[in-house]
Amino acid sequence: MKNVTSDEQKKFFLPTEMKAAYLQGVLEVGVEDVKVPTITGKEVLVKVMAVGICGSDIHYYAHGRIGQRKVQYPHIQGHECAGIVVAVGEEVSRFKIGDRVAVEPGVACQTCEWCKEGRYNLCPDVQFLSTPPVKGAFVQYLKHREDYLFSIPDTLSFENATLAEPLSVGLHAVKRGGLQPGATVVISGMGPVGLMTVLAAKAFGAKEIIVSDMEPLRLEMAKKLGATRVINVAKDDMVAVVEEATLGPGVDMILETSGNVKALQSSIELTKRGGAIVVIGFPAKDEVPLNVILMLQKEIDLYSVYRYTNTYPLAISLLESMGNKVNEIITDRYSIDEIEKAMEQANTNRSGSLKVMIYPN
Ligand SMILES: [Zn+2]
Ligand SMILES: [Zn+2]
Repeated sequence: MKNVTSDEQKKFFLPTEMKAAYLQGVLEVGVEDVKVPTITGKEVLVKVMAVGICGSDIHYYAHGRIGQRKVQYPHIQGHECAGIVVAVGEEVSRFKIGDRVAVEPGVACQTCEWCKEGRYNLCPDVQFLSTPPVKGAFVQYLKHREDYLFSIPDTLSFENATLAEPLSVGLHAVKRGGLQPGATVVISGMGPVGLMTVLAAKAFGAKEIIVSDMEPLRLEMAKKLGATRVINVAKDDMVAVVEEATLGPGVDMILETSGNVKALQSSIELTKRGGAIVVIGFPAKDEVPLNVILMLQKEIDLYSVYRYTNTYPLAISLLESMGNKVNEIITDRYSIDEIEKAMEQANTNRSGSLKVMIYPN
């Protein structure tokens, strides 16, 4: 596995220095030259070919923190990435130089009670790329443990493979909520995670997928990915649409990705008796008043979702099966030198941009 031909060596000739995009303060990013990481044991060096800007990256960039988690400057962002294996540690058995891989960003300890239960997203020692203080993937070469890398087929582009990360959130959400084939769902918020949740709901057999957002571009994209009805919350009456679609009783499941307080509050009304609400998006406020009495009377199950576990293989095969349809979600493309423009675009152009992608190599 580890025998490298001289041709391959030439092809993957490794420089000693690389570019890395640093966050230096609120709304302050720049590019610096740093050393290419060295690897040992089960570590793999990945040449990063594409890395998406996530909502969390934008949040840290614009506010310097998410809840209690504060950025320690200088910081490197980025966690939705894919690339080529260019070096392997001496204990690596699953990959060889030249393999194309998607990177699952959260490396867990594998020994704590949560890891042992398979809920490694809850591992207290998880090292998640770009979550402070762990540095991220806006670099040319990334060091990562082999058990958090996944082979991608030649038919799946690097940029589409990066979507395995937001799609994983959607897949974890529909699994947590126990979505059944034939279900009727509402997905609120059509940012990249919302759009990927449409794919996940469809893959799990949802019959009616009603989506909501304020931006026409996002609603259009949702239709292309499988939404059956779209609601523009700026002008349409959500309750009326849901009543019409479900002939009254409400939907089986709400998947809330927007973080909008009103969307979360109205979920209780829109959910059918005995249905489920899955909270995915972080609300802008820590505390949100909910009609708990109505929730109890309808015996609604309330689930929360934090990242994901064991979703990458399925996410990769779903993305492969979607072909170029999913590619339209990537609206802006930049090199690592253009990181300033890229972050600015992702932060300010809500109506025109969906996924902003960086190509470090
Ligand atoms: Zn992400
Ligand atoms: Zn653990």
